[in-house]
Amino acid sequence: MCGIVGYTGNKYAVPIIIDGLKRLEYRGYDSAGVAVHERNAIKIVRAVGKLKNLIEKTNNLKASGTSGVGHTRWATHGKPSEVNAHPHKAGDIVLVHNGIIENYGELKASLIKKGVKFESETDTEVIAHLINYYFKNTNDLFSAILKAIKDLKGSFACAVLNLKEPDKIYLMKYESPLVLGIGEQENFFASDIPALLPYTNKIVYMKDGEIAVITDNSYKIYDFNGNEIKRKK
Ligand code: GLU
Repeated sequence: MCGIVGYTGNKYAVPIIIDGLKRLEYRGYDSAGVAVHERNAIKIVRAVGKLKNLIEKTNNLKASGTSGVGHTRWATHGKPSEVNAHPHKAGDIVLVHNGIIENYGELKASLIKKGVKFESETDTEVIAHLINYYFKNTNDLFSAILKAIKDLKGSFACAVLNLKEPDKIYLMKYESPLVLGIGEQENFFASDIPALLPYTNKIVYMKDGEIAVITDNSYKIYDFNGNEIKRKK
């Protein structure tokens, strides 16, 4: 399973993400992690085991960032360990994932041939490097995500941060659950509604084959060809 959650708005992101992870912890106990934008950097903290281990590690994290993502893992590829814990980083891209990439072996082999270095044993790190590979060529994260999705076989609910776009979170969904939570000057996402209910009851269900781009004051949904989808509010 796995749970993902994230926030972009005008409040400190880490406590909101940790709170969301507490409500999602039933989805995975192997490790947990957060990533938050922090003055021209993305800080990542990960810990093996239950969420309380991550909470202990983040207690000393003086993170004033207002945009970030979190993950609680149920390992499918790669043992439970810190290096296999999400978020995964590739260049300026940071990513969390719920799902399974079935063709990760062949994608990984072809990226390695192109000189990409992997740290973990996960299928997830392949998504991060694949997006980064296309992103480096185009410098356009949205089109890099569209390209990467076409190569992926399997299930994914992913959230992607870009160092250069601190107020934006890119989301993509195929056969793993993902909902958006719409607030005032703040927006959220999560694998499951209970993670968001303390913050908003305005929920938008993402459907398979959709990408969303959220900022503090907007959310836009697209299909996997990049065409915007208008939803009834
Ligand atoms: N396949 C990913 C991993 O093992 C995500 C796991 C999941 O969604 O349960 O890290």
